[in-house]
Amino acid sequence: MLDLIGNTPLLQLHRFDTGCCRLLIKLECNNPNGSIKDRTALSIINAAEKNGDLCPGKGIIEATAGNTGISLAAIARMKGYPLTTVVPDKMSREKIDLLNIMGVHVVITRSDVSRGHPDYYLDFAETISREKDLFYTNQFANTANIDAHYRTTGPELWQQTEGQIDAFVCGVGTGGTLTGAGRYLKEHNPDIDIVLADPEGSLLAPKVKGQSGMEAGSWLVEGIGEDFVPDNCDLSLIDHAFSITDQDAFQHTRALFSRELILAGTSSGVLLAAALQYCQQQTQPKTVVTLACDTGYRYLSKAFNADWLEQHHLAGDCETL
Ligand code: PMP
Repeated sequence: MLDLIGNTPLLQLHRFDTGCCRLLIKLECNNPNGSIKDRTALSIINAAEKNGDLCPGKGIIEATAGNTGISLAAIARMKGYPLTTVVPDKMSREKIDLLNIMGVHVVITRSDVSRGHPDYYLDFAETISREKDLFYTNQFANTANIDAHYRTTGPELWQQTEGQIDAFVCGVGTGGTLTGAGRYLKEHNPDIDIVLADPEGSLLAPKVKGQSGMEAGSWLVEGIGEDFVPDNCDLSLIDHAFSITDQDAFQHTRALFSRELILAGTSSGVLLAAALQYCQQQTQPKTVVTLACDTGYRYLSKAFNADWLEQHHLAGDCETL
């Protein structure tokens, strides 16, 4: 299973208006545990084994929106490490059910508090790791996360496009993907545009645009957007940034499925919406690449559920499937 991580396919989208550009999407949902986080989890565990942070029987803890937890759960289980995850309560039922089925100790914490609050998922995980002497994988600051994408995602994108990549559209949860793949791509083509796709309410896109002093809002998209800049996120790599509303994100998540039969999660809707805006702004033909970060099976009760969309006032603009 570990050998199947990465080397995901790249597909051209034909059923969206991409202006004069070609838009390609890398199917990270095809990783064996359903998301791009397989790369991160494998890299973090391998590095920790190498430098002695992990030894047989040692417990692991992570603060995760779910996908890192699911990938860590699979890899830790194969290697015999017990896992605890601290998950904010807005995350989908499917992810939490899956963690439970995989034998993970799941601690649910509040989504409505920010960094510095003891119940904030990162602060909470750090406290438990100290109290229980667990290895805190800390995807937000562990450089093995960046390294995963510098060694695999970036080179794969470069090889699959044969170096013909003019822009890379990416979100930031921890910043691992953007920093690792973005750095690799910029080293190979300094003219490439690294484009941040950020949910509205997150502070990252405003920060890139020099808008400081804003208060973070809330958003329903899972996995990307932050109210702080993670250590693993190098904002200086970013050339353009787009803030995408939940409405737009959910609509694009559904359209990706109904038009292209790509069943991906809601962060992919943010990336697609931003990628299309970027494409439509171009006056010269460009090859633009984005990601389907995780599988939409994790959101059947939300983005693909009419009642849930109705309750959250997101049904109006959403494409009928
Ligand atoms: N999409 C989803 C669904 C995710 O779970 C994550 C990670 N939290 C990302 C995108 C962002 O990836 P990264 O952590 O590398 O910034």
